[in-house]
Formats: sequence, structure tokens, C-alpha cells
Amino acid sequence: MEITVIGGGLAGVEAAHQIARMGGSVVLYEMRPVVSTPAHHTDCLAELVCSNSLKSKELSNAHGLLKEEMRRLSSIVIEAADGSAIPGGKALVVDRERFARRLTEMTQDDPAIRLVRQEAQKIPEGTVIVATGPLTSGPIASEIGVLTGEENLSFFDSISPIIDARSVDHDRAFYASRYSKEGGGDYLNCPLTKDEYDNFYDALISAERVDLRDFEKTSYFEGCLPVEVLAERGRKTLTYGPMKPVGLVDPTDGRRPYAVLQLRKENASGSMLNMVGFQTKMKYPEQERVFRMVPALRNALFLRHGSIHRNTYINAPLILNEKLQSKVMPRVFFAGQLTGVEGYVESTAMGLMAGISALLSAAGKEFQPPPATTCVGALIRYLTTENKHFQPMNVNFGLLEGYSKKNKEAAIETALKDITEWKKTFH
Ligand SMILES: Cc1cc2nc3c(=O)[nH]c(=O)nc-3n(C[C@H](O)[C@H](O)[C@H](O)COP(=O)(O)OP(=O)(O)OC[C@H]3O[C@@H](n4cnc5c(N)ncnc54)[C@H](O)[C@@H]3O)c2cc1C
Repeated sequence: MEITVIGGGLAGVEAAHQIARMGGSVVLYEMRPVVSTPAHHTDCLAELVCSNSLKSKELSNAHGLLKEEMRRLSSIVIEAADGSAIPGGKALVVDRERFARRLTEMTQDDPAIRLVRQEAQKIPEGTVIVATGPLTSGPIASEIGVLTGEENLSFFDSISPIIDARSVDHDRAFYASRYSKEGGGDYLNCPLTKDEYDNFYDALISAERVDLRDFEKTSYFEGCLPVEVLAERGRKTLTYGPMKPVGLVDPTDGRRPYAVLQLRKENASGSMLNMVGFQTKMKYPEQERVFRMVPALRNALFLRHGSIHRNTYINAPLILNEKLQSKVMPRVFFAGQLTGVEGYVESTAMGLMAGISALLSAAGKEFQPPPATTCVGALIRYLTTENKHFQPMNVNFGLLEGYSKKNKEAAIETALKDITEWKKTFH
């Protein structure tokens, strides 16, 4: 059973080894060093393009729990990371060269994997996993666009922060949709008085920002301005834009607020709330400091921070089923960051799942993803649940089925038990 994997990054390498370990064979296309990307510097497979940290090792942190689940699923990338770890406190930090070289050698030495150093320009025949990552090359991006529909393929992330709904001060916020005469509504509005807005504004425009890389300085700013850049156009600009109060009445005093920050449900249960229109390039600690100046958010717990960066990803809820398989062309699977997850380990996890899923599918067998009580399963559920405002997502406890802060320890135990049970279903 031969499967083609396009892209020898974290997800592609993981997928290839999962297939090989389960008895399949792989043709793995990696375009570097023949063609490079603006962020990769070597010809190694699984190159870490930026930080050398795979984030927390602690099980009490969703990043740590995800890695432990993947260890239990025999992830080769996590094995290589553990084997090339250097001191990094509570984080799994790796010697990036040793890490990538190790994975490159393991891939080259595996008789079931044939590595082809060539840019894939088309989606070939047969069962294919597309794992070309955030910097997918132009020709294959066009092919993906044809498969998904151009409107379902994005080239930039423009992400607003997500906060834990339970951390909002509901005494300082009210549900309403603009101009709605009835109470309730889809938005949780966080009002500000003029003084509160002025203080917030001053902090926002003077907050520290992340520098743009050269290849990110493009016209995308016209389409999705960071909120702090929009704010620089004038002190009141936001009150005519994402913070406009028109059509809203604060039930505590029956008056229109001076400004509002609106929160919208990010998941069906409403446990995660998205800050509408607040995509930002502020540094993470600055986001927390500035947004907590909004009275209802003074204790806000951030599940995801805002960001804007170059990223290629598909509108997964429309394009993929829970097998990470194209709904319209089932022989094509997607893996890695391209699926709409965010981060090294999340991308690897979607490589691991796509590898197993593609092999089982090629063998005519059923693939059921792990339950959403696990981090891996919860990510797949996020990718494949209808979502009109789909944006890439990193792993966080808010995604886990049945999770609440009070039952955190039990949820971690359940995740590890369920992933172990799940593995038995196909091994
Ligand atoms: C600039 C930048 C900085 C980042 N920093 C971080 C960070 O600090 N921490 C973090 O967790 N995440 C970070 N990310 C996200 C990170 O890149 C991804 O999470 C992760 O590398 C994605 O894994 P992947 O396998 O999907 O893609 P990649 O690891 O990028 O692998 C894709 C591979 O496909 C190859 N390829 C592309 N097109 C073709 C083609 N047509 N034919 C053959 N090969 C092709 C590429 O050369 C590459 O090797 C960053 C992303 C970018 C763009």
C-alpha cells in the first residue's frame, strides 16, 4: 500500500513514519533545498522555523497533555524531541539541529519511505496526504485552491484573542445584539465609560508589538488591520469600528455605553469567547495587560492570544471530515498547519492522525478519531465542527469535552485513559 505525502515538515514526517510503522510504504516529497521557503534555512526535514520550544511539559498545561498523548501514540517527532531535549525549565526545549538531523536520518534510513527532493506542483494520483505547511509553495497552493474552492484557502492568519467565558465579570457585561429590541442576543458586550475608554486607548497604542518579518509586510494589512494600528488613525476610530456602541443599551443604567468590546461564542457550548475584531500584533503579555483594562475582562483568562501572520490554511469545517479527508475527493487527506491548527505540536498531531487515517482508508478499513475528551480528538472536533468564523486554533483545555476548571485533574486523567484505549482499537 503506497501513500504519497507532500511536505517533509513536522506533520509530513510524522505521517510518513506512522504509515511505515503500520506496514505501508510512502513516497515523501520535500521541495527543500531545491526550492526554499522564506522561513526555512536548512535542507533538513522537520525544521523548526522559529522558536526551539515545543512548549510546556506539564500535564496541567494543555500543551503538555497533548505531548503526553502523542508519546502514548508513539509519535516519532515527540520521541526525537525527547531525545534532543536541552534544559528549558517547564518547557520541552530542543537542540534544533540535533532534532531535525535525527528525524531526517530516521526518514532517509527507513526502507518503507522513499524521500524525493522535489517540489510537488500537482496533487498526484492515489492516496495523498498534503502537509505543505504555513508556507505552502505557489503551484501546489493553486491546486489546493481548485480542490477546496479559492474562497476556502487563506494565506494569512488574522486572529483575535479567545478567553474563557467563566473568567468574564458578568456583572460588568450584558448579552445583546445591536438594535435588538428583545433581551439576550449573540454577543456579550463589555461596556466602557469615556474615562475607561481613554485609558484603554492610551495603553493600546503604546503597547509593545511583535515585529513583522519581511515576507509578512504585504498588502494584507489593508484587509485585516491589527486593532492597535486601526486605533492609531484617531482616538475615536475604534468607537466607529469594532467598539461602536450604537444600537446597544446597557441594562444596568438604561443608557448607551461610550464604547463596547464584543465577545462572541467560539464553540457550541459557549465556554470559549472570541473578542470580535481584535486581531492584534501586540506581544502576548501586553495583550493580557491591555485587554484586562476593560472592566468586564479584568480577570480574563486567555485561551488563545491574538496574532496576524503568514499562514496557509483551509476552511476545515467545510472541506474535511473527521478522517481529515477531503469531502469531495476522499483519496486526498490534509495534515499539519494547513488543516487549521496552530503550532509545532498541534501540526504534528494532525500529521499523526492523517497518517493513520490515510493508511486505514487505503486498506478499506474504518478510522474513528480519538474522543473529544482527548486533546488530539478535541482538535479534530474543532476542525470539523461547523463554524462560520473559522480561524486556526492551538490546543487548550477549553476545547476538551466535559472540561471545567473544577474537574481539571479528572479531565487530564480521562484524556490519558481514553487515548490509551483508543490506540488499542487499531493496533
Ligand atoms: C515564520 C513562522 C514562525 C513560526 N513560529 C512558530 C513557533 O515559534 N512555534 C510554533 O509552535 N509554531 C510556529 N510556527 C508555526 C509552525 O511553522 C508550524 O506550526 C509547523 O511547522 C507546521 O508544521 P507543518 O508540518 O504543517 O509545516 P512545515 O513544518 O512548514 O512543513 C511543510 C513542509 O512542506 C514543504 N513544502 C511546501 N510546499 C511544498 C511543495 N509544493 N512540494 C514539496 N514540499 C513542499 C516545506 O518546505 C516544508 O518543509 C511558525 C510558522 C511560521 C511561518
